[in-house]
Amino acid sequence: MSKDNSSIHEFDINLICEYFSNVERQGPGSPGATLKALSFIDNLTDKSRIADLGCGTGGQTMILGENTPGHITGIDLFPAFINLFNRNAERLNLHDRVKGIVGSMDDLPFQKEELDLIWSEGAIYNIGFEKGISLWREYLKPGGYLAVTEAAWFKAERPEEIEDFWMDAYPQIDTIPNHISKLEKAGYVPLASFMLPEYCWRENFFAPQVEAQKNFLLKYPGNKMAEDLIANLRHEKVLYDKYSDYYGYVFYIARKSV
Ligand code: SAH
Repeated sequence: MSKDNSSIHEFDINLICEYFSNVERQGPGSPGATLKALSFIDNLTDKSRIADLGCGTGGQTMILGENTPGHITGIDLFPAFINLFNRNAERLNLHDRVKGIVGSMDDLPFQKEELDLIWSEGAIYNIGFEKGISLWREYLKPGGYLAVTEAAWFKAERPEEIEDFWMDAYPQIDTIPNHISKLEKAGYVPLASFMLPEYCWRENFFAPQVEAQKNFLLKYPGNKMAEDLIANLRHEKVLYDKYSDYYGYVFYIARKSV
């Protein structure tokens, strides 16, 4: 890659980060869904070690922190998100137990079999579901838990427009039974799965972006990259409005088999 391209690439990532720093969530979800997933997980104590991978600014991590004992490490690639994460933890007086660090989900700073629980909402797609569940397994204690959301097809047949969109954006999207079977093959006992309700997308993910998008375009008038980013994000919402019967996010809760 030429030097010019890499700097453009960096700018793009910075732009995306800046945009998503202005909204509370960087992916679809809700406190209700986080708590529902947590309800399938037993045995957490104040000694428990928990990791939230691809934590973003920590919307779901703070809910976890307020509703579990134990220590939580949030990991995200982007320092700007981790700064906001740690500020949120401090604001909620969780900073003794909930800490964000910069790192990558494919190079975890934990010991083997250190973790009681690995959490990841709307983020495993960055390395792919199969790679993620297989890489992360060794960091879990025997019997440790995994709770992860992933993009899933709800029907075996899909209209071409939405099929094409996902094959381009994230071809690893799969059906719920296939995800469950992949968990089993990777050495987990699947315990539960549930679809995220539509409000997790509409009210919690898309709605707060309307204002953020307007402000962003005002801040970067005539900036082609900023305009393209906002156009892409708006297109995602149009597709969701049209095809939410066909795809969405699913929470999978599983336990490392011993
Ligand atoms: N869990 C948050 C954020 C989801 S967005 C929420 O649900 O709101 C996906 C997040 O993954 C972003 O914050 C992005 O910065 C982060 N990310 C992308 N690649 C990553 C990697 N390799 N390692 C860790 N985090 C990564």
